[in-house]
Amino acid sequence: MDLYSQDINQLIDELGALPGIGSKSAQRMAFHIINLPLDRVKRLSQAIMKARENAKYCKECCTLTDAELCPICSNEKRNHKMIMVVENPRDLIAYEKTGKYEGVYHVLHGAISPMNGIGPSDIKLKELIERLKGDVDEVIIATNSSLEGETTAMYISKLIKPAGIKVTRIASGVPVGGDLEYIDEVTLLRAFEGRTEI
Ligand code: ZN
Repeated sequence: MDLYSQDINQLIDELGALPGIGSKSAQRMAFHIINLPLDRVKRLSQAIMKARENAKYCKECCTLTDAELCPICSNEKRNHKMIMVVENPRDLIAYEKTGKYEGVYHVLHGAISPMNGIGPSDIKLKELIERLKGDVDEVIIATNSSLEGETTAMYISKLIKPAGIKVTRIASGVPVGGDLEYIDEVTLLRAFEGRTEI
């Protein structure tokens, strides 16, 4: 039995389809939105539309940005010879928040997962290999310590080692299966500083 009008139900369904939002939260959010002043709701929906429409991949590191090059890649003060490979833009933000990393990044947008049918060509690996044709001193693999993250790290290492580029892996102070974005800055820094060559 539908307890709400069709429009409200649809809003609850859409919100409930977002990650981490259960049906109770979706209902709470829907009623919060309905009770907001109309201009606030317009701002919210316009912000969603604008972010979605303008979001594109940085042509260098593949993170999400609204410009040709993201602010990190276009910053000349960063060390462009040091590339940290992460699974998603949220991991990049986690490392940026430490304020201690001076290199640049490469965002894979996923990890290799044979179980889920995700192969090397389904993530931004080709783009990474392309970048390595330039002047690169070190590639730091900072994929998650999940099975998929480790598989991806091994794959990348085998792929680029023959090119004579130093490949390191962040230390395993990061809990197994842990998402990088939930790990505190001190742990992230320790993992970075304790990276070892693979
Ligand atoms: Zn970039």
